[in-house]
Amino acid sequence: MRIGGYVPLSLSDYPGQLAAVVFTQGCNWRCPWCHNPALVHPALFTPPIPVETVLARLAARRGRLDALVITGGEPTLHDGLPGFIGRVRDLGYKIKLDTNGSRPAVLRALLERGLLDFVAVDLKAPWDRYPEAAGLPALDTAPLRETLRLLRETRTPHHLRTTLWPGLSDADKPALAEAAAGSPHHYQPFRPPA
Ligand code: SF4
Repeated sequence: MRIGGYVPLSLSDYPGQLAAVVFTQGCNWRCPWCHNPALVHPALFTPPIPVETVLARLAARRGRLDALVITGGEPTLHDGLPGFIGRVRDLGYKIKLDTNGSRPAVLRALLERGLLDFVAVDLKAPWDRYPEAAGLPALDTAPLRETLRLLRETRTPHHLRTTLWPGLSDADKPALAEAAAGSPHHYQPFRPPA
């Protein structure tokens, strides 16, 4: 695990829960409108926060927080993710995972082990505009569709969120609604990178 940021308290990242947030470094996508490029481009990475430091801080807050939100970057890229989640759960925390949806096999393995309480997926664009939204002209959307199918079939608490990045318009909303059918879905305003 490479952890690039830690927020000790968030009231808004996990619906209805008091949560801490960790930000993992590294992403397999290059969204032109990424709000956190410092977690995507290795040249911008800060020295990682040791996992043991995060666990110690969470241990110190046991009973006063409900959950940990794991976001990025793209958390599912990290081989140490299941072990990390297991240790956080042992401290009594619920886990919410934020993912771009590109690695359904990792998600499936986490769900099969009962390691996730809530999942948020960015539904970035209608399927035919995903390569543009992700900054990858050859992007295959099949894994994303598999991720959404998996969440619905397993009845995992989840939601989809679409950031209104500058290239998106009202004309995209019918196709987005179609892609989101069967899942809670909302829009959120675009925030330029800090
Ligand atoms: S998937 Fe998320 S973290 Fe990765 S480049 Fe896109 S917006 Fe940034």
